[in-house]
Amino acid sequence: MSKIVNHSGMRIRVLPALQDNYMYLVVDEQTREAAIIDPVEPNRVLGAVKEEGVNLTTILTTHHHWDHAGGNVDLVKSAASKLKVVGGDDRIGALTDKVSHGDSFQIGSLKVKCLFTPCHTSGHICYFIESPESQDPPTVFTGDTLFIAGCGRFFEGTPVQMHKALIEVLGQLPDNTQVFCGHEYSEQNLKFAAHVEPHNDDIKNKIAWAAATRGRNEPTVPSTIGEEKKINPFMRVTEDSVQQHAGQADPISTMGAIRQEKDNFKAK
Ligand SMILES: [Zn+2]
Repeated sequence: MSKIVNHSGMRIRVLPALQDNYMYLVVDEQTREAAIIDPVEPNRVLGAVKEEGVNLTTILTTHHHWDHAGGNVDLVKSAASKLKVVGGDDRIGALTDKVSHGDSFQIGSLKVKCLFTPCHTSGHICYFIESPESQDPPTVFTGDTLFIAGCGRFFEGTPVQMHKALIEVLGQLPDNTQVFCGHEYSEQNLKFAAHVEPHNDDIKNKIAWAAATRGRNEPTVPSTIGEEKKINPFMRVTEDSVQQHAGQADPISTMGAIRQEKDNFKAK
């Protein structure tokens, strides 16, 4: 089911794709210019662009994996006007604008800032988007780096890198920043979170909420950075409870240990 997160300056249309991926159409309400995050299903994107009556100018790619970047070439071919394709990795199809940490640009009046978060892949970028002229909360599109109550596998990186990405980069964003991630993995992630911290009431409450939300076939995005700090074990590696579960005494080895445990975790 499609979902719309409506603010006064920025409109975000959540577009489910494939098995459990999310694409996001981000519209600047002032100019009707739009960007699409990870358009793996170009036809669905073009349908949404038409329905919204917006001017799609930009593809923002979080990383090169097929289920995120695999639609870029076809979307560029079938779009009404020339698209800018942004990303941080040469393996991304149709890439026109390679970006690195701290780069920024506009989508209409919206301000986009690129956050380099290598680990899941070595060229992963998260996009922090704000509507400076409105009172809207900021947003961050986290691809396969940060999920609700979880994080991506360390395919091309280390616990040091994920610690940096989650604690030093994403963890420093304002607590009210809305988190839009690349997959609907929340229920599985929350089961693992509850296994790590069985006495965490925020996790228990989120489990009940996620079950009801998924029961209505609705997306569990967005959460917020502030909420992730309460429920996400990978953002809580500085907490005693998480370190004790991991049998480790520092955040980085805790990060490595719980990621390894999660890789083999079978939810009951
Ligand atoms: Zn991926």
